Amino acid sequence: MSKLQSVRGMQDVLPGDSARWRWVEDRVADVLDRFGYRQIRMPLLEDTRLFARGVGETSDIVEKEMYTFDDRGGDSVTLRPEGTAGCVRVCEQHGLLYNQTQRLWYRGPMFRYERPQKGRYRQFEQIGVECFGLAGPDIDFELLQLTAELWRVLGVDQAVRLELNTLGTSEARSAWRGALVDYLRPFEAELDEDSRRRLERNPLRIFDSKVERTREIIAGAPTFDHWLDADSRAHFEHLQERLAGAGIAAVINPMLVRGLDYYSRTVFEWTTEALGAQGTVCGGGRYDGLVELLGGRPTPGIGFAMGIDRLLLLAQACASLPEDIDRAVDAYLVPMEDAASGAAFELAGHLRSALPRLRVQVHCGGGKVKARMKR
Ligand code: ATP
Ligand code: MG
Repeated sequence: MSKLQSVRGMQDVLPGDSARWRWVEDRVADVLDRFGYRQIRMPLLEDTRLFARGVGETSDIVEKEMYTFDDRGGDSVTLRPEGTAGCVRVCEQHGLLYNQTQRLWYRGPMFRYERPQKGRYRQFEQIGVECFGLAGPDIDFELLQLTAELWRVLGVDQAVRLELNTLGTSEARSAWRGALVDYLRPFEAELDEDSRRRLERNPLRIFDSKVERTREIIAGAPTFDHWLDADSRAHFEHLQERLAGAGIAAVINPMLVRGLDYYSRTVFEWTTEALGAQGTVCGGGRYDGLVELLGGRPTPGIGFAMGIDRLLLLAQACASLPEDIDRAVDAYLVPMEDAASGAAFELAGHLRSALPRLRVQVHCGGGKVKARMKR
């Protein structure tokens, strides 16, 4: 029998690296605590219909990236490809949205059947944040302030930049959509295959294409600005003023539409040049229609998710992790002979209570003095 290997696109995190993961995750969790956000824990497996409806039938995720199968009872279930739809499901199921506001976060693995490469895996880690019940631009600002604080704490703030756009209301977007299709139709033959298909189903998504010729064509397309509704414009301007006031630099990118179907108004991405093609470390936006789409009362929402795999790569590229991060032990107690072993364990116990941050280990496995010292 051939040797068993991990499934393609799935990573093993070995002991030295797991310390790096925890360094990132603990720092992020700490910032979220300081902003008063509360963690939820969700199942990895959800009813497939949640994503079909909540992420959108025409999104890349639903069209070609999901791990979907029938369980033994014949129900179609899916390994979660993202957290927002599941988070809305949790909130609805447990009555967390009615007459309340929520600021929530979660973390854990997401699953997407993509082509694996550096910074892109089939199982990857996200930390996601979602806020419900707040319609104004103040919460948009708070989320961006929170992310800016994260980059500072992780020591990557010099390597990332904020890209920002607004997608207005769904009415404004459908007006734009018509103009977009009119512009793109003459180029139809030159578009890549995915984009040709999207021309009918969801032309906005063509902005998300990574194919060069398609990107050239779309660069000349009519931008949304002309169709943007007045309320969304005021919302967006307010947000930009707050950001400027706080010294958070943002680049307005009219091409930024984001991959998921449910966004409205504010959308943003934090990108870096330090990771090659996989340059987006965090993305999110407002999704005021999603809760209703999934069967709840109309409830404004906004959130983002960041890829911890990419953030860790970035923190390493910025050399911001402590040098001794993969050292497991600060003090190693070596009894010179087996008879002293009991005393060594007792001493280790005292050290651990007196110095809770000190990592203490007692030599196990016997051996000659020289071998013990060498260990
Ligand atoms: P991309 O354009 O890189 O495919 P996306 O728009 O599909 O990203 P989101 O759904 O917004 O990504 O997920 C939020 C973040 O999760 C991304 O910005 C990225 O950092 C991370 N991420 C997404 N897909 C992967 C993956 N396959 N492997 C590692 N990280 C990922
Ligand atoms: Mg993607």
